Amino acid sequence: MQQAPIPANEEHRLARLLEYDILDTLPEQAYDDIALLAARICRTPIALISLVGRERQWFKAEIGLGTRETPRAVSFCAHALLGEEVMVVPDAEQDPRFTDNPLVQGGPRIRFYAGAPLVSPDGAALGTLCVIDRQPRQLGEEEAQALAALARQVMAQLELRREVRERQRYQELLEAANAQLKELAERDELTGLANRRVLMRYLDTELQRARRSGEPTSLILLDVDEFKAYNDTFGHLAGDEVLRRLGGLLPRLLRASDLAARYGGEEFMVLLPNTPNAGALGVAERIRQAVEQGAWPLRPVTVSLGVATRTDPSGGSLSLIEAADQALYKAKQAGRNRVARV
Ligand code: GH3
Ligand code: MG
Ligand code: MG
Repeated sequence: MQQAPIPANEEHRLARLLEYDILDTLPEQAYDDIALLAARICRTPIALISLVGRERQWFKAEIGLGTRETPRAVSFCAHALLGEEVMVVPDAEQDPRFTDNPLVQGGPRIRFYAGAPLVSPDGAALGTLCVIDRQPRQLGEEEAQALAALARQVMAQLELRREVRERQRYQELLEAANAQLKELAERDELTGLANRRVLMRYLDTELQRARRSGEPTSLILLDVDEFKAYNDTFGHLAGDEVLRRLGGLLPRLLRASDLAARYGGEEFMVLLPNTPNAGALGVAERIRQAVEQGAWPLRPVTVSLGVATRTDPSGGSLSLIEAADQALYKAKQAGRNRVARV
């Protein structure tokens, strides 16, 4: 038995084959249909779409053979993919390449074989569309043309598959990049909290809703006490660590509908939708206590908080922020580590 020589471009060919990511996939109607047409047109009991891998040939579609793969060593298709034309073996018993092939002497007892190579757009022969009979015979010119045309259809299917998968991959990359972009645009990198832009947007939305519902909207502005001194004493990185821990602490003290954001520098904001002033003062006090009692690594940290509430949001978000700022100023003036309202 003569094994087919390995094509000169074997590594390129195998790489291309892997790119289609088709080996060992489930049967699909489109490929089965093409194999069926090949068998009917050429009037053979067996038709295969065979993809030739390094060690085996695997059948994407198989009619009448009853097996999904065979070793490459006994493969007719490994011979057929060496040429560009349809390869015809009228009688395998008379062909020195195949006469002692186990598929000829036993198993399916192949006598007639005709295979049209499946050639990728850049010239890699991946396998064949082939028809097989148990009797010796010839392949007519029109049958050969049809077989070659159907082989091109198989290739078109494979190309379509590759393009769809490529587009899916790009789509996934794009979505990941967009998610990352959104993260960058909306998160404060140091604390992981929402940034000022997100807070302002949420605040505008909430105030509009409050205008319709008549519900109060509250805002807490929080500022770390004597933070300049903290930085001066322990360094900027230690200061960053305080801000990071505050970023972790705040959301745990809030409801899901509340929004904590880093407003800038060592200032944080908490937006409390549908919350009256008394409720917001309670939340602010809870935050103040949690910070005061926190296990800070270097020295105690305290914060001052200003609380403002609007039931009539006509002044808009800026007036609410201004009011919270005034309240914060009052808290600082009154000695820090406390909550104040206007
Ligand atoms: P007060 O109690 O009045 O708020 O005093 P303060 O020192 O906290 O206020 P001041 O506005 O004088 O200083 C704020 C400090 O916050 C100064 C600045 O270096 C520090 N700061 C702002 N942003 C960051 C940051 O991202 N990381 C660190 N480590 N420090 C920051
Ligand atoms: Mg400040
Ligand atoms: Mg401060």
